[in-house]
Amino acid sequence: VDYTLIWKVLIATLLLVALIFYWNTMVVKIRAKAKDDFLAVMSHELRTPMNAISGLNALLKLSPLDPTQKSYVEKLEASSGYMMQLINNLLDFAKVKNDSFELEQQSFRLDIALHSVKSILMQKADDRGIALTVMSEGLESIAIIGDRGHLSQVLINLINNAIKYTEEGEVSLVVTQLPESTENTVRIAFSVTDTGIGIAEADLKSLFDPYQRVINSASNTSEGVGLGLAISKSLVELMGGQLHVESRLGQGSRFYFDITFELADDHMVSQAIIAD
Ligand code: ADP
Repeated sequence: VDYTLIWKVLIATLLLVALIFYWNTMVVKIRAKAKDDFLAVMSHELRTPMNAISGLNALLKLSPLDPTQKSYVEKLEASSGYMMQLINNLLDFAKVKNDSFELEQQSFRLDIALHSVKSILMQKADDRGIALTVMSEGLESIAIIGDRGHLSQVLINLINNAIKYTEEGEVSLVVTQLPESTENTVRIAFSVTDTGIGIAEADLKSLFDPYQRVINSASNTSEGVGLGLAISKSLVELMGGQLHVESRLGQGSRFYFDITFELADDHMVSQAIIAD
């Protein structure tokens, strides 16, 4: 028996199997990367016309309008706001998957940022007959360094969900300073609570997975693709926190996280105020 030939055939077969395996993983990786790149480019491109639509609509809202025109402009504002949120989530999702995500570091007034988050969602809460409250006692005029846009995006996602998945009652955002704060840093707790439909225990495990939507009374009627919580979780983690949820079916939910921010110095505080 020619053992050398058997060895040669065996090694050649092993090499072939390894090559096929390597080729397959490479193809899968290249395809996934192409998909993520496409998503990143598309969502980035979509933002420019959406900015123009939102900006021009805001100008239109300032001009004299009759009640019908006013209601059209408000509908346009709500739809373009939703579209913008979707595009922002998609863009960030693609960037996080691509490892090309970078947080911005800018100084801003926390109370002002919270106020604009509230004003973005007030109309939606009003339309659904839900009381939206934002409480941030003791944080007036605190200026911090962080990514205002992405912090706002997380809060908008959470509050937007709370409004969507609540039939009646209230939604509240409570922001408090934690005792772990130091001379140069401030640890802030954010908590979004609703009195809505709640989430079953069994659905909590996969709630933060991408494209995950819970089958319930609201899932057919409410807009959404199941990316909001997945991207919010990643964004909170990138900012150094952990997004948690506690919920009772039929009673409501609470989403919460803590983040430590550097305090901006006085010079930056005045800049932050001017910038707004
Ligand atoms: P969607 O675009 O579907 O809202 P999300 O990722 O934001 O996607 O949320 C995933 C799912 O988690 C939702 O489809 C919904 O079923 C559930 N969910 C999220 N927030 C709440 C909430 N506050 N109350 C009840 N269910 C919620």
